Amino acid sequence: MNIKIAENAGFCYGVMRAIKMADDAIKKYKKLYSLGPIIHNPQVVEEYEKKGLKVAQDLNDVDAPVLIRSHGVPPEVYNEINKKGVDYIDATCPFVKEAQDYAKEMFLKGYTIVIFGDKNHPEVKAHLGYTDYNAYIVNTPEEAKNVVAEKIGVISQTTQSVERFASVVAELSKNSKQLKVYNTICDATEKRQKSAKKLAKESDIMIVIGGKNSANTRKLYEICSKYCKKAYHIETEDEIQKEWFLDVDNVGITAGASTPSYIIDRVYNFIKGMDSE
Ligand code: SF4
Repeated sequence: MNIKIAENAGFCYGVMRAIKMADDAIKKYKKLYSLGPIIHNPQVVEEYEKKGLKVAQDLNDVDAPVLIRSHGVPPEVYNEINKKGVDYIDATCPFVKEAQDYAKEMFLKGYTIVIFGDKNHPEVKAHLGYTDYNAYIVNTPEEAKNVVAEKIGVISQTTQSVERFASVVAELSKNSKQLKVYNTICDATEKRQKSAKKLAKESDIMIVIGGKNSANTRKLYEICSKYCKKAYHIETEDEIQKEWFLDVDNVGITAGASTPSYIIDRVYNFIKGMDSE
């Protein structure tokens, strides 16, 4: 079997930065919390729990310094942390911050804000806070039909699909006189999606590695399923089934932005090992 890893796969800049900040903070503080899991990857969260980074679901559980993860938080969370009198380490990805700034800027200028994304995703919940909780959250072109306003300002969750964003924007353009669009889908997401699509087209099977709770990994899986007849989303090599590889010549592997390289390597080696059995 030919096994190929997508040109762009695994940890993105923002996740790598957050992990580095967590490593530094663990050395500095005796006790440390992350507000929600540091990244959407259960294996990495478990590893960091062991190193001393506890996961707090909300600030009520926090009595020591707190790490804000790459997804960011709504503005009032900073005030609440300050009121508690604990330090914080802000690992919000700079690209997420940029989207928050655009949302705030357009909101203050009187635009009706549309956030393209998943309403349950922490990044989207944080973006909403920068519009004083006054934005529409839209995930499909059908939902976009419900937004009608003179001035519409659009941002996207950074990990959304570029193709779907374009169709949402096209729909919104029918409903407003002034449409301001910031394509805040990040480069890392776009690159991973493009190289997953390219590899999926030339593979008989695609293995997509990443947390089942990782939005960007699920998007990669969605893309791979569209362009390759067999696609599987796994977290680790333990989930791989040998039957998947019957009559397969070309294997493609990709991984979400929150998947560490050691897990990608393990999956690669497992498949390679199967081939030589
Ligand atoms: S996917 Fe992009 S926006 Fe999100 S954390 Fe990574 S680099 Fe930042």
